[in-house]
Amino acid sequence: MKLRQLGKTGLMVSEIGFGGEWLERHEFDESVKLLKYAHEKGINIVDCWMPDPKSRDIIGKAMEGCREFWYVQGHIGSTYQDGQYVRTRDMKFVKPAFEDLLERFHTDYIDLGMIHYIDSEEEWNTVMNGEFIEYVHELKREGKIRHIGLSTHNPKIGKLAVETGFIEMILFSINPAFDMRPPTEDLTTMFGGYDQDQLSGIDPERSQFYQMCEENNVGLTVMKGFFGGALLDKERSPFGVAFTATQLIHYALTRPGVSSIMVGYDTTAQIDEAVGYETATAEERDYASVIASAPFHSYSGICTYCGHCKPCPMDIDIAMVNKFYDLATMQPQVPESVASHYMALDHHASECIGCQSCEARCPFGVSIAERMEKTAVLFGE
Ligand code: SF4
Ligand code: SF4
Repeated sequence: MKLRQLGKTGLMVSEIGFGGEWLERHEFDESVKLLKYAHEKGINIVDCWMPDPKSRDIIGKAMEGCREFWYVQGHIGSTYQDGQYVRTRDMKFVKPAFEDLLERFHTDYIDLGMIHYIDSEEEWNTVMNGEFIEYVHELKREGKIRHIGLSTHNPKIGKLAVETGFIEMILFSINPAFDMRPPTEDLTTMFGGYDQDQLSGIDPERSQFYQMCEENNVGLTVMKGFFGGALLDKERSPFGVAFTATQLIHYALTRPGVSSIMVGYDTTAQIDEAVGYETATAEERDYASVIASAPFHSYSGICTYCGHCKPCPMDIDIAMVNKFYDLATMQPQVPESVASHYMALDHHASECIGCQSCEARCPFGVSIAERMEKTAVLFGE
C-alpha cells in the first residue's frame, strides 16, 4: 500500500482509507473482521463521523492491540440523541459525544479532530467565533486531538479553512460529478438544471481550492468518491455511464492536495477491489475516456445514503429505506432478498408522517417524503 503525507500533519496515511459509515449495517464481529482485514491490506486511516455506539465500539474493538497503527478521523459535533445522529454545535451534546468517542475507542487521543460538516458561511462564522472552536483548541492543547481537521462539501468553506492556518487537513467530497458543478452552501441547488456545456470541465472555484490546499500544505482526504455508488451504476450515474471503483479512486487521488480516499465497505471483496487500485494498469485507471464518451444526464435528487437527513421523529432509517427502494426498483421485480432485508428494518416507510423535516437536512435535494410514500406502496409496508 502506498503511503502519502497528509499535508502539514506529517502523518503518512494509506492512499486507500476506510470510511466507517457502513459498519453499523452488519453483525458486530463481522464488521470487526472487516476492519482487521483492511488493516492486513495496509489501510491505516479510518473516518468515524458516526456517533452511534455500535459503530464506535466496532472500531474500538478492531483497534485493540494495534491502536498505533491507525490514524483516526474523529468528528466533533456529530452527536447521538434519542438513538439518532444529530449534527450540533450545542456544547452540552458536543462534549459528551467526543468523550464517548475516546471511551469507545479505548484511547486517550484522536489523530485528526474533525470539525464536523460545515457547508454554509453563516455556520462557519458561528463555529469560528464561539465556544465550539475554543473547545477544539482546548482538545488540541490537552493532546486529546493531535491535529485539527474539518469536513465540508463546499470549496468556499474549504478555502476559508485553509486561510485559518490552524486547520491542517480537510475531508472533502470529490468525484467527477461534483467537480463539474459550482460551489454552493446548499447542495440542493447544485443539482438543479444545467446544460451540457456546464459539464465540460472542473469548476474553477474547486480547482482553485485544490490548488490552495497544495500550496499551503493542507492535506485532503476524500469522501463521497463514488457518489454513494451512483457513479458505479449506469442507471444512476449523472454521466449515463458507469465508472469502475479503480477509475473513481484514481480520479480522487489525482486531485492536487489529496492524500487518501475514504471508501465504504460491506465485504472483504470490496476491500480487495479498492486495494487492487495499487496494482491496476494505466488503462484500468483511465477515467477520462469514460467522461469524454458520457452522454449528458441530470442528477438532481439522487440519494447517496449519507444519513445526514437524520433525525426522523418516527425513527425511520431513511438512508436504508432509500437504498432498498433503489435496489428494488433497479429490477423488473422486487428481489426477495431485498424485500426481506427491508422488512427486517425496525421502522418502515409506511410510518412516515410526511413532516419533511428530513428534507431540509438532505444535501442532495431528495424528495424524501414522496419516496417514503412510493416505498410503502412498493413493499406494502
Ligand atoms: S418526512 Fe417522513 S422520513 Fe422524513 S423526517 Fe418526517 S417522518 Fe421521517
Ligand atoms: S435522503 Fe439525502 S441526507 Fe438522507 S441519506 Fe439520502 S442523500 Fe443523504
